[in-house]
Amino acid sequence: MNTSSSVPDNLSDFPVDTANAAGVLRIDLAALRHNYQWLKESVAAETVCAVVKADAYGLGAPKVVSTLYQAGCRNFFVAHLDEARVLLPLVPDDASFFVLNGLAPGSEPACAATGRVVPVCNSPEQFSTWLAEAERLKRRLSVVLQVDTGMSRLGFSLDQLETLAQEGRWKSRLNIRLVMSHLACADEPEHGLNELQLARFRSIVSLFPGAAASLSNSAGCLLDNEFHQQWVRPGIALYGVNPTSVQSDPFKPVASLHARVIQVHTVDSEATIGYGATATAEKPLRLATIAAGYADGWPRHLSNRGAAYWQSYRLPIVGRVSMDLTIVDISALPESALQRGDWVELIGPHQTVAQVAADADTIPYEILTQLGKRYYRYSVG
Ligand SMILES: *Cc1c(COP(=O)(O)O)cnc(C)c1O
Repeated sequence: MNTSSSVPDNLSDFPVDTANAAGVLRIDLAALRHNYQWLKESVAAETVCAVVKADAYGLGAPKVVSTLYQAGCRNFFVAHLDEARVLLPLVPDDASFFVLNGLAPGSEPACAATGRVVPVCNSPEQFSTWLAEAERLKRRLSVVLQVDTGMSRLGFSLDQLETLAQEGRWKSRLNIRLVMSHLACADEPEHGLNELQLARFRSIVSLFPGAAASLSNSAGCLLDNEFHQQWVRPGIALYGVNPTSVQSDPFKPVASLHARVIQVHTVDSEATIGYGATATAEKPLRLATIAAGYADGWPRHLSNRGAAYWQSYRLPIVGRVSMDLTIVDISALPESALQRGDWVELIGPHQTVAQVAADADTIPYEILTQLGKRYYRYSVG
């Protein structure tokens, strides 16, 4: 059980006006700073960047970026140029944004116009269009090179980068800020691919003297120091999820989620519960219907599997999760414990994101990035 976040014990006692809210998503910015600070102190890299793609994994990129900037972070990774363009005005000029997916054809001028959004070039084509933009503008532009060392997802092949390193034409126009690659199995420290990717990466980095090197996501930050290189690129660890199951968890949870009880009632033995009547009461049950469903990113895969919590009571989900509602069994609670209007915990001190993900047969990343738009959101710390 995690006690580091201070969700009010009395769940109706949120420090904000949630009178009309159906669900409340609380973002703990102090925990976010803690996680960033822990990484800064613990990894061997000079620079801890922050991956803030997908709205900072669903937690709200504007707040996350401002908070991490204040904590000293200057380098932010997003997936798309448009994500960077929204966040750019929120932080002073000394912050840089890096576009992991690189640029779509035709968006080079928009990227260059920002002055501090740097594309990751993943292929010779992306590289040559960025070079053409620098030549057109008669400016020296920054660029990141990604090499594919074992993911077969994005990046130059080793051969392609060896060729590029020998060419002279781009050198007056493009400044290589960073050479990066991405680990496929960093969450499995014993996996042989890690060392292989590191060796391949090193052979390429040495061809670009002057560029920083970056290999590790959150899980990579927990591998041996040699994986850390100069820059690390954590995402999920900043948001308080342990990126690996093999080490104890130094990260504090950032998100907690509560949903409103809409109705409490008792059903008779043999009552059918929810769409498809996939559950049947084997005895009289007290049920609570709560205001979160798959439209809120509360996975339908939790049907008849997951739970909500009230204090330390586990309230099993019965029947199918529907679009806006989930039914939980509260028979174990004292009679008067839970009433219409009260809150139950979906993510918090009693139920981690990792637990929800496990119950839903998915990964914490998917739970966070799907967190719904209908929740009342607030931040503390
Ligand atoms: C998303 C992403 C990261 C961050 O990964 P986490 O596992 O969340 O730390 C780092 N690097 C690349 C290339 C990514 O796509």
